[in-house]
Amino acid sequence: MKIMILYTRQEDTQKMKIVDEYFGCDVFSTSAMQRYLPHAVYKQMMDVMEKGKELPKEIADVVANAMKDWAMDKGATHYTHWFQPMTGITAEKHDAFINPTGPTSVISDFRGKELIKGEPDASSFPSGGLRATFEARGYTAWDPTSLAFVKEKTLYIPTLFCSYDGSALDKKTPLLRSNDALNKAAVRLLNIMGYNIHKIKTTVGPEQEYFLIDEEMFKERLDLLVTGRTLFGAAPVKGQELDDHYFGSLSERVKAYMEEVDEELWKLGVYAKTEHKEVAPCQFELAPVFTSTNIANDQNQLTMEVLQKVASHHGLVCLLHEKPFDGVNGSGKHNNWSFCTEEGENILEPGDSPKDNIRFLTVLAAIIKGVDEYQDLLRISVASAGNDHRLGADEAPPAIISIYLGEELTAILEAIEAGNEYVDTIDRRLELGISTLPPIAKDSTDRNRTSPFAFTGNKFEFRMLGSNLNISCPNTILNTIVAEELTQFADELECVKKEDMTKALIALIQKTLKNHKRIIFSGNGYSDEWKKEAKRRGLLELKTTADALPHYTDPKNLQLFEKHNVYSASELHARESILLTNYYKVVQIEAKTMAYMLRKQILPAIFSYEAKLAQIIQTKKSSGIDAPLEVKILKNINTPLELVSNHLDTLETLIHKETTTEKQAACFAANELLPLMETIRQLTDLIETNVSKEDWPLPDYNDILFKSML
Ligand code: ADP
Ligand code: MG
Repeated sequence: MKIMILYTRQEDTQKMKIVDEYFGCDVFSTSAMQRYLPHAVYKQMMDVMEKGKELPKEIADVVANAMKDWAMDKGATHYTHWFQPMTGITAEKHDAFINPTGPTSVISDFRGKELIKGEPDASSFPSGGLRATFEARGYTAWDPTSLAFVKEKTLYIPTLFCSYDGSALDKKTPLLRSNDALNKAAVRLLNIMGYNIHKIKTTVGPEQEYFLIDEEMFKERLDLLVTGRTLFGAAPVKGQELDDHYFGSLSERVKAYMEEVDEELWKLGVYAKTEHKEVAPCQFELAPVFTSTNIANDQNQLTMEVLQKVASHHGLVCLLHEKPFDGVNGSGKHNNWSFCTEEGENILEPGDSPKDNIRFLTVLAAIIKGVDEYQDLLRISVASAGNDHRLGADEAPPAIISIYLGEELTAILEAIEAGNEYVDTIDRRLELGISTLPPIAKDSTDRNRTSPFAFTGNKFEFRMLGSNLNISCPNTILNTIVAEELTQFADELECVKKEDMTKALIALIQKTLKNHKRIIFSGNGYSDEWKKEAKRRGLLELKTTADALPHYTDPKNLQLFEKHNVYSASELHARESILLTNYYKVVQIEAKTMAYMLRKQILPAIFSYEAKLAQIIQTKKSSGIDAPLEVKILKNINTPLELVSNHLDTLETLIHKETTTEKQAACFAANELLPLMETIRQLTDLIETNVSKEDWPLPDYNDILFKSML
């Protein structure tokens, strides 16, 4: 086994820690279970975790007690049911492990019933009408398939969150339901095709991008503090045009930060692996090793939390907003997704000869069909006010969904569709022209970075996610649409005789490609030509969240989710309503912040600079000297300033405008508020370039992007 050594930052000694020894030490892992549970109970727990068996009531107390003992040995005093409400963040409410035994005495206690179910009240989370306040009970239910852990003296128990009638009030319940749906559909189809497979599970590796900036500068900008993004800021003197940040060497401050992040994540059993500088100044990425979707989801939430917490130890702030700065790249989260058998065999592995791998090609065809038929849902799954600033902004995939398959797979599928034999003409050697180097094999797919949904070797990479998104929704959608297509294939193939199966599969792939090949696109997804071409092909372009969300509850989507028991109609309506409301509220808060900063900080600063200029002009004039330069600057400031002032008046009226429906409010935000805010921003940024640095009341883009890392 590979041993990694890391150094803790201690003043005088460099203490070595061996990661093998402490990886996962804060997780109630299978080895911790083995130590703390009687053997028979441990075996039953394994059945619960691996085979999805029910936890017998009588052993729940034993497990709870062991968990408590283990956690207290790690210094924990409290426990919390950790859940992911529909806000997408994680929620926790801490309870101490104590039970009074007399007026002045307590014993430490934690029972099975407390482990299995919690009633956190939590009535203030948005429920989209699933919970009226008079019946506000919300329950948390232990999810034994995601491991409990200790953090900051508290035992965290991953849970699901539902209402009195069992409706999902969280992000995780639908995700687990969709895993079940995909498992059921895939096992059925694969067995019909003649493979003896009992269980499949989905796997995800989310690559997390983020910005790091100096804490002091962050605190001076209300826009960053309140909204996570800068609402003003003239372009810096240098952006990312030299591509010199990407993969660059790390400064000591950032290196120290990343070491601490890794250490914290490793203790929590998160497979943090790859870290590097990203394209924009101050931008970075952390990629974990993939794992099962449920765990990857929880670990990504933990990763975002640790990234933010550890930053404060280094005088930094980690920004997870999708577009903190105008003019440089925003941050995304590439969701690498696949599914494998119980034994870990990846179903999306094409093998050495993809053209002969009929199982792979069938599943691929199903995915192509699913992505084409449910473009709207994939777009919706990544929709948010912040992400709208990224998608289609020449740095992230456009708001149009398409699939990239790479040269070889595209050629194979084209040959199948045409009924031709595929002749492999692709040269798989990478020719470097250096005789002393051993030959390097070429991967079968290249990486088209502009594609929103790209096949990358043995998995799909869904690239439209924004950096701060909870990954459960996109994966719920992916799992469900693929479950649907696999089910349709299974229905069609059910009665096919064994000896006719290959022929039937080829015919099915052919038919699927004929009907759905419009979704396959290998060119530059950032180009304007693609937008036109996509329109010609009839692909959807849902530009804003307000455009996309109302399709959530289209009849075909309601039907899909109900069929696979992923969302009931009321659960889906609730989500649509919450997301629409959230979108409007986010934009409204941004508008208020903009107005506040203008009135309280920016306008007064401009006035004082204008006064200085006017004073100089006056003084010069009284000495009989002309002041053409000062007059010019004053005019340059004053012309846009008058416009800003008028627009600001309008913005302040619009902020309070009443709308009748959630959909209307969202459209109003997208079509009225945001464009006006953009105009105000551009004018203000223009003024900024004419005002002295000393008088400008905010740290500017040069300060934030270039002095942060010092
Ligand atoms: P790149 O930056 O080139 O996209 P990385 O190696 O940084 O690639 O990230 C790829 C991600 O995909 C990693 O998190 C990796 O663990 C994950 N991954 C690899 N194989 C699978 C798989 N079968 N299922 C899900 N994720 C996978
Ligand atoms: Mg990637």
